[in-house]
This record gives sequence, structure tokens and C-alpha cells, in this order.
Amino acid sequence: MFDKILISRCFLGENVRYDSKAIPLKHPLLALWQQQKRLVAICPEVSGGLPVPREPAEQQPHSGKVITLSNIDVSAQFNDGANQALALCKKHNIRFALLKESSPSCGSSYIYDGSFSNKKIVGQGITSQLLHQHGITVFSEHSLDKLATLLDCADLTNHQ
Ligand code: SF4
Repeated sequence: MFDKILISRCFLGENVRYDSKAIPLKHPLLALWQQQKRLVAICPEVSGGLPVPREPAEQQPHSGKVITLSNIDVSAQFNDGANQALALCKKHNIRFALLKESSPSCGSSYIYDGSFSNKKIVGQGITSQLLHQHGITVFSEHSLDKLATLLDCADLTNHQ
């Protein structure tokens, strides 16, 4: 059995982003992982009940709440989506996730600073935080090669 990977739906070319634009992640390993039926896809924000398109939202550094550009608190929807992502990981025994960097849900190293001025700070999105707390390692499009190396090691161990 191959280890499964939780993946951001927008990486697969689905129009789930806030601006409804598709930004597929083009990497040969994605096709291979799809063929191996490793990928379990989720968009936490859509799963949490938010529409496409939707207002941009950013995590506020002091309160941790997620607020839209017009000051609507969407923390509940973000938390709901994060919990659904975690439930999927538990269901499929997932230890690794590949999520879109800088998203207020999926970012694993950087997020926007909450001021809607296009500034990034070190931090994790709501889903990445929750997954990390439960021992799931989150990778981004910038660290895909590290994930591939870990999966190779895991595959060797699983098939011994
Ligand atoms: Fe992609 Fe995650 Fe944003 Fe959904 S919440 S559009 S999966 S980055």
C-alpha cells in the first residue's frame, strides 16, 4: 500500500480559489501520484461552506481570527474546513500533506499578515496548523521534492 497524500484541490486545477482562477501545480510527480491513487483532495475553505468566488480573507496575527476584506469573521468556516481535512487524514491514515503556500488555510511556512497589503509573514494557515498539531507533515509546492524523498523512504519501508 502506498502512503496517501492530502492535497489542495486547487493544485489539481479545480476552480476553488477565492478568485475562482485555476492554478494547477504542474509537476510530473503529481501525475504519478494520481496514477498510484495516492491523492486525497480537499479545499478546506469550500468544505467549510465558503463560496467560489469569495472575498479574500487573512488571519489576524493577534487574535488568530480569519477576517475578510470587508471585516466579516469567517473563522468558523475556516475551522470547519480544517477539521474536515483532519478527518480525511485520519480516515486514510495520512501522514503527509501537500498544500498551497501562503493561503490562509493551506499555507505551511508563510501567510499574509492580516493587513490586506500583500505582505507575508512567517506562519501557518488554519488547516496546516491543525494538521501539524496532529503529527501530519505539511509540504508546499516549494518543498515537493522533500516530500518525494520521504515518500520514497516510506515506500521502501512499507514494502519490506
Ligand atoms: Fe487552494 Fe487551499 Fe485555498 Fe482551497 S483553501 S483554494 S485548496 S489554497
